[in-house]
Formats: sequence, C-alpha cells, structure tokens
Amino acid sequence: MRIAMVSEHASPLAASSGLGGVDAGGQNVAVRALALALADAGHEIVVHTRRTDPRTARRVALAPGVTVDHVDAGPARELPKDDLVEHMAAFSDELAASWRAERPDVVHAHFWMSGMAALPAARPLGVPVVQTFHALGSVKRRHQGADDTSPAERVAVESDLAASVDRVLATCRDEVDELVALGIPAERTTVVPCGVDVGHFTSGSARRDGPFRVLTVSRLVPRKGVDTVIAAMARLPRDAELVIAGGPRPEGLDDDPEVARLRTLARSAGVADRVSFLGAVGHDALPALYRDADAVACVPAYEPFGLVPLEAMACGRPVVAAAVGGLADTVVDGVTGHHVPTGDPGAVAAALERLRADPRRARRMGRAGRRRAETEYGWDRVAASHEQVYGAVAAAVPALTSLTTGSPA
Ligand code: UDP
Repeated sequence: MRIAMVSEHASPLAASSGLGGVDAGGQNVAVRALALALADAGHEIVVHTRRTDPRTARRVALAPGVTVDHVDAGPARELPKDDLVEHMAAFSDELAASWRAERPDVVHAHFWMSGMAALPAARPLGVPVVQTFHALGSVKRRHQGADDTSPAERVAVESDLAASVDRVLATCRDEVDELVALGIPAERTTVVPCGVDVGHFTSGSARRDGPFRVLTVSRLVPRKGVDTVIAAMARLPRDAELVIAGGPRPEGLDDDPEVARLRTLARSAGVADRVSFLGAVGHDALPALYRDADAVACVPAYEPFGLVPLEAMACGRPVVAAAVGGLADTVVDGVTGHHVPTGDPGAVAAALERLRADPRRARRMGRAGRRRAETEYGWDRVAASHEQVYGAVAAAVPALTSLTTGSPA
C-alpha cells in the first residue's frame, strides 16, 4: 500500500536525537518506528511533517520505502506546537496538492492538528483517513485546567474528527472510554498500541554493586510526576538514588525553570544529594541507562500511552507505574512491576521498597517485562495491526463514496 502519514509537529527525523524537550517525545519515536516497520513489510510510506528549518530538503529519504516530506506551512523554524493551529489550512493545501499528484491508498494522521489538515485534503480524493490522537484535549484540560495551553477549539475539533474519519486508532483501552464520553461510539475505534524496538532496547545483566538506583526518563513537564518520585525518595533508605533523564540538553539544565522547581523540591525533601539530572539523553544511550537501573519509575498524572515503561520492560527492568492511560495496559501489576495511584509518594516509595528488598523478585518481574514487550509490543506486530486497519478502511472506500453521493452501495 501507499501510506501517507501526517505528523505535523513531530518529525520522525528528530527521533534519534533531540528528544526529551518540551514538545519532542513519544510521537516522534512512534511515527518513525511505525513507518520503518511498515516499509519492512513491503509498504511505501511518506511522512508529511512541517518544515522547521529552511535548509532541509523538501523530501528526505529516511530508509528504503520511507520518505519524509517537509511541508511549508508557517515560518520555517521551531514553533511551540500549541501555536501551529493557524498554519493547518496551509498545511492542508500542501497535502492536497501532493496527494492529487500521487494518490495514497490510505492516510494516517497523528495528533489532532494532523487530522485537521489531512481530512479536508483526503476527502475530495476519496482516500480513507485513519486517526491516532496520541493525546486527547479533553483529558489534558481535565488534568491541567488553566495551565492547558492547547488552542480553545481542540476538544471540538477532536470530537468532529473522531466522528468523521474512517477509523480512530486508540492507543489504549482508557482512550476508548474517553472517546465514548465524547459521544464517539466504541465501534468507530480500534485499540492498537504503540510498540517498542525490542532489538534496540535489550535486556542484559544488571550493575552488581552500588546503591539501589531508580530511573525516570521523561520530558520535564509537571504532568509527568517526576516531583512525586523525588518526594518518594525521602521515604527510601539513604542508599537509594534517583537518576532523572530528560528535559533540556545537559548544558541548559541550570536555566530550566522546571529543573529549578524539581531541585528545590529535592532540597526541601532532604534528598538533593541522591537525585541527579542528566538532561536529554540520546536514544542510543538509553538502553544502557535502563539496564543500569534497578527499577524504573513512571508516575504521571495521566499518560495517553507511555513508551518509557515499555522501553524499561524491554530492557528487563521492573516498572513502578501510575495505573493511568496506556500504563494500565502495558504494565501488569504484580507481574512486570507495580501499579500505584497517581500523586502518591508513599505508594511509590512502598512499591520501590518492595523491589529493593527482594532483588530476586525484581529480576523476575524484569524478565516478565521483557517477555511481555517481545510478545505483545514489537513494532512488527504493531505494524501488522495497523496494516489490518488500513486494509479494512481501504476496502470499504467504494461503499463510502457511493454513500456520500447518495447512490446505492
Ligand atoms: N526520550 C529520550 N531521551 C530523553 C527523554 C525521553 O530519548 O532524554 C524518549 C523516550 O525514550 C521515549 C520518548 O522520548 O521513547 C518519550 O515517550 P513517552 O511516550 O514515554 O512520553 P511523551 O514524551 O510522548 O509524553
């Protein structure tokens, strides 16, 4: 199939470096990995993303079968993703021109604004559109309230898109419930999780000595709950340490307001000497970092999917995870780690202490995590699930076209 992916703010080319910043995270990784896995299965993929640098070529080959198309929409520089909505009409016009010249069999939009650009470009050509939201504005608004900087129209646009596209792909069961609450019938939605590169993230032997090491890997934004893990450290024995990967590049750590907030918390909790900030870590260095940890903590207030716990599991490490969003599906409580309530440092500390006190059990959970990552979440398997959906919506297109023109199916 010829598959057009649209990922307006998250370029797959940024997925090997530059992650961990405020707007660069799981979507970059997921779009890249999905495109590569689909190309491996024999499909032809073009990923359309907004041009953020005037020097990049319009089309860049990422791998055999995968091309990145830099779409001119708005100024050719990095912009916060919440400022991109005004450029989506221009983005849509560019997509329409590309697709008229070379008609894809299916369009897969990632994030709400991509759907907003993709749907009007694809509809007149009769190309089916599949939508993955990656995050829902309704959830973000509920959790962030006045701090939510999403454009005002986001929730309404997401509802309209979910009702109009050919299929919504939810990355976890919780997202289906959220969509139902928005009035979207569950039949419109298929759960297809994100995956993990089980060839890159591999398990291996643990560090033999040193303190009990807890790792978090996360963009440093308040909703990720890094503050909860810092508070939990105060309840663990003094030989436990916390390593925090993510945020700005290491040279920018001292200028980052969220790092300053977290450092203040660590000082007032009396654990500053046991908490270290690495800044953004390249994807290539992450497997060793996961393997050097005794446990990985991931306790966001909410999480649409969450690649980090899967990466930790693939590296054979037990995960202490908030039982929210995708983490409720990926982490199996008592088997691959522990579920904890959100915002509860005591529960995080208790779960970490259980792992610290029983290293054999922790290792067993790590092995179970590796098995689960391999059998359920390898990208080849996840790509095959996408393929099924693409095939189904493409096969249904003639019927849909005749429906919209009023002729009998
Ligand atoms: N990541 C990274 N380096 C960092 C911090 C994060 O490579 O310093 C990667 C991490 O390995 C994961 C992604 O960024 O693949 C984060 O995805 P996740 O779904 O966990 O969270 P998001 O950032 O999308 O909210």
